[in-house]
Amino acid sequence: MKRFTNRMTAGISAAVIACGALCALPVTAADTAEPLRIEGEDMEGASLWTSIYENQIPGYSGEGFFYLTSDPGTITMTVPEDGMYQIIVHGAQILNQEGRYQTVEVNGSEYHTTVPYTDKWTDFDFGMVRLNKGENTIKFVSKYGYMAIDYVTISPAVFPDLSKATAETCDKDATPETKALMAYLQSVYGKQMLSGQQQIYGGGNTVQTTIRYDASTDTCKDSDGVEYVIDRDSKDKDEQGNEFYWHCTGPDGQVYTYSTQNHNYTYNNYNNDVNLIHDLTGKYPAIQGFDFGSYCPCYAWDDGVAGRMIEWTNEKGGICTASWHINVPTRLADYTLGEPLDFSKTTYSEKTDFVTANCLKEGTTEYEYFKLCVDNLAKELLKLQEANVPLIFRPFHEAEGNGGKDGQGAWFWWAKEGAEVYKQLWAYLQDTLTNDYGLHNLIWEQNLYTWSDDSALWYSGDDRVDIVAYDKYNTVYNRHDGKTSGPNLDAESGIFYKLVGYVDGKKMVAMAENSTVPSLTNLQVEHADWLYFCPWYNTDQDPFVIGEAYQDLDELKKVYLSDFCITLDELPEDLFKTTVKPVSGTTTTTTGKESGKADLLGDVNLDKAVDVEDAVLLARYLAEDETAVIDAQGKLNADMNASGGPDTDDTGLILRKIAKLD
Ligand code: CA
Repeated sequence: MKRFTNRMTAGISAAVIACGALCALPVTAADTAEPLRIEGEDMEGASLWTSIYENQIPGYSGEGFFYLTSDPGTITMTVPEDGMYQIIVHGAQILNQEGRYQTVEVNGSEYHTTVPYTDKWTDFDFGMVRLNKGENTIKFVSKYGYMAIDYVTISPAVFPDLSKATAETCDKDATPETKALMAYLQSVYGKQMLSGQQQIYGGGNTVQTTIRYDASTDTCKDSDGVEYVIDRDSKDKDEQGNEFYWHCTGPDGQVYTYSTQNHNYTYNNYNNDVNLIHDLTGKYPAIQGFDFGSYCPCYAWDDGVAGRMIEWTNEKGGICTASWHINVPTRLADYTLGEPLDFSKTTYSEKTDFVTANCLKEGTTEYEYFKLCVDNLAKELLKLQEANVPLIFRPFHEAEGNGGKDGQGAWFWWAKEGAEVYKQLWAYLQDTLTNDYGLHNLIWEQNLYTWSDDSALWYSGDDRVDIVAYDKYNTVYNRHDGKTSGPNLDAESGIFYKLVGYVDGKKMVAMAENSTVPSLTNLQVEHADWLYFCPWYNTDQDPFVIGEAYQDLDELKKVYLSDFCITLDELPEDLFKTTVKPVSGTTTTTTGKESGKADLLGDVNLDKAVDVEDAVLLARYLAEDETAVIDAQGKLNADMNASGGPDTDDTGLILRKIAKLD
């Protein structure tokens, strides 16, 4: 299996900070610093204009305005503390009907915004920027230019109210654990940040061992003579006719897989990424990122991800998130429905003749193929639901790609036909998983970008999304500091607040994937209150977790060890059974896996039915038969007489319930 990677290179020069919800906010001064208002024509290096050639724009303030042609106009501003400031330009743009890109350079870092056509003086929000204690240089440069600047106002930023973000799941029938997780996330949002780390999926991180199969003794042993338990169902023969077994299990439960190349057994060290973090910081992340990409119908490969996720939540107490790098045939003609297709003939990129819109059109190959994809995915998600594991689910990520609502900037197949088809696909997946498969353990997270004025058009709407997210890859491209390599500690607060604006503050905003984890100082000074961060996994080629091209390890450690950042050990013990507020407004404790409430009285074996099997299981359990196992929820369900635990009276009461005697 080829290694999966998702390092995408966005081809535009810098993040855009433009008019989000912030435009509606009044510009007011904080107590600590004064707003600055300066006439365009009074900026350093600016020239005085009173008309743009024959065009008059009446109503300017001061003596006239500055028309940005070739020379820059510069403002020097001294502020008392590091902080975020809002730049508002009172200006006009009469050259391009479709809008014109403008650039402001703040202490050498460039920020862009597109100014629409207008022949009337208008306030344009150039976004929030960081100013440092002391003197700062704010320079309007003419990269594209041809904008009239009447005056500029720079004020201490007013931050939107993040407490408006909802704790309600868009799935009203979400499981108690899912609602509890959502409520917890909302309780920390805007105050602290959760640490996260993606783990590798499919292949990669292969660990070689000395374990070999010896046909003469019919055993699997390593060089120390330790014997491994052979999975007898996995018998096979190699090309020379030698028998071997695909799998054996070690004393610690680790499953090993036969290598046809070296004739030894190997395993994938899926914990490699979180262990790297632990080695560095002494902490584990609160969230672990997974991916269902291995469950593609073309090469369906069970990499055991559901088991690892269940372990992460139920054994370690961590939070799971997952993306879905689902491949399609690169050329549909190569593919026969339901038949395997080599990985090399599949892709998740936009370079495929697979028609995305056809996923929604019955009778097409794409429709049938996508149904297989969803079915494979749903089976894994159901395993989580059965184990009471909620999931921050992030399908169809990075939809907008490099920008535009028409799909021209897309780099994944699900977005290549534009925002409308993308949103239909999202709705179809959501409705199918929720209604047809009965999945209610999902917190729906949608990746949004901020590259153009059309970006918000990719949002599926308040009733279909729980969290919006951004993937920050900015070590090579998308930098503000002019560099083209090395860690980028930028907190991207401008992007954060633009996303907050897209959803009117009603949804939480996360950094679902990233290269460099922003520095603690940048995050806090800029109030870049991302719900969580989650660097992509480590490979030799792209060492996102600890590679010096991606991370500043001292800064990463500082983040992990700060009170601001929540790590695995700091998650509440009752995370998945937190008290949540349902729609009715009354506060109740959810019926989570150990919440103290029966979900179906008498259903001891949790098969959603009350029958004689339940009575028998309970009777065996009470007789101390060790093979009769009842879990916590089963015990709650068994307690028919509400005595605080199962007892012999309950057996009789279950039988009476079955016989409908009560
Ligand atoms: Ca003026």
